[in-house]
Amino acid sequence: MSTPALMPVYPRCDVRPVRGEGCWLIGERGERYLDFAAGIAVNALGHGHPHITRTIADQAATLMHTSNLYGSPLGEKLAQRIVDHTFADTVFFTNSGVEAIECAIKTARRYHYVNGNPQRHKLITFKNAFHGRSIGAISATDQPKMRDGFEPLLPGFDYVKFNDLEGALAAIDGETAGFLVETVQGEGGMTAGTPEFITGLRKACDEHGLLLILDEIQCGYGRTGKFFAHEHYGITPDIMTVAKGIGNGFPLGACLATEEAAKGMVFGTHGSTYGGNPLAMAVGMAVLDVMLEDGFFERVEQMGDWLRAAFEQMIPNHDHLFDEIRGKGLMLGIKLKEPAVARDFVAHLRDNHGLLTVAAGENVFRVLPPLVIDESHIAECVERLSAGARSY
Ligand code: PLP
Repeated sequence: MSTPALMPVYPRCDVRPVRGEGCWLIGERGERYLDFAAGIAVNALGHGHPHITRTIADQAATLMHTSNLYGSPLGEKLAQRIVDHTFADTVFFTNSGVEAIECAIKTARRYHYVNGNPQRHKLITFKNAFHGRSIGAISATDQPKMRDGFEPLLPGFDYVKFNDLEGALAAIDGETAGFLVETVQGEGGMTAGTPEFITGLRKACDEHGLLLILDEIQCGYGRTGKFFAHEHYGITPDIMTVAKGIGNGFPLGACLATEEAAKGMVFGTHGSTYGGNPLAMAVGMAVLDVMLEDGFFERVEQMGDWLRAAFEQMIPNHDHLFDEIRGKGLMLGIKLKEPAVARDFVAHLRDNHGLLTVAAGENVFRVLPPLVIDESHIAECVERLSAGARSY
């Protein structure tokens, strides 16, 4: 058998999208899918948003790439705008989520190094977490299916159960640099951190001189109905990773940090050829033009409440299949009752009912629509989901 030209690392399905229109994807044969996967929480403003597409065309014609050898007027502008609206004092732009994670790990290690505590290199991370696929990120992830065959991995990670504050506190030792945690776990099953857990980690960091790194690559940028998910908890991190919604499909991510946490990241400690290029920066600005309009996040919160309420109404009619609703805002998951398998149900919805969702672990499927859905999309989703549950 010959090797496919595309390295076969993804279990690709038969849907082959060729066009997107708002909350819909159109396949090769003209078939239409209601896109409640949004490229795994990426297409926050839907497909073909006019402000984004115009910005890309204009900026591509003006200036696409210069490298980080030169000053970056657009990068400075976007970083300042992010700083103005967040806890952060400084931003490093990347091309993906996992690169932001790498930057966060390096920033945390350097912080303790320049503070004269190089032994403090270990991060406490959490079971079922997902931080990406680099060696650093899979080392931070206690999931054999991602790690097998890639050892030896990066040392310096301790793994504790998610939402287990006591376990997390017990794991702190003299080598601990901080915690790396998703505010709302996505891939791992759409589990929101409990208020006690998230605020408890913050408190422990303050007491022990540790850094709280929040991975908001999936749950940030409006997904939960606030600009960032930690706003639900009334705390701020020291370092935060973002990606996905930040570029609406353009490859862009960022590592945000306070001045204190970033104090080791000086000239020569980190870099990227493409990261922060003018095209990416223009798209990042365009996304914020839309998201920072009055009422955008409130509307996401409202749509999230309505979608959840619609699911709550639907679930008793299909209680052989659906168990519970998880998540926050428009980052929702429905847990299936065993023996149903999320991957199979997602395929059934996709192939027989034209509804795109994403599996999260064994038995939760994720509903991650564009943040710009309206009532008609919610009604359409519930109709297709109900029909899918009946025919499954
Ligand atoms: N962290 C979280 C929480 C994610 O959901 C993902 C991607 O799904 C990543 C990190 C990795 O991001 P990327 O695939 O852009 O490298």
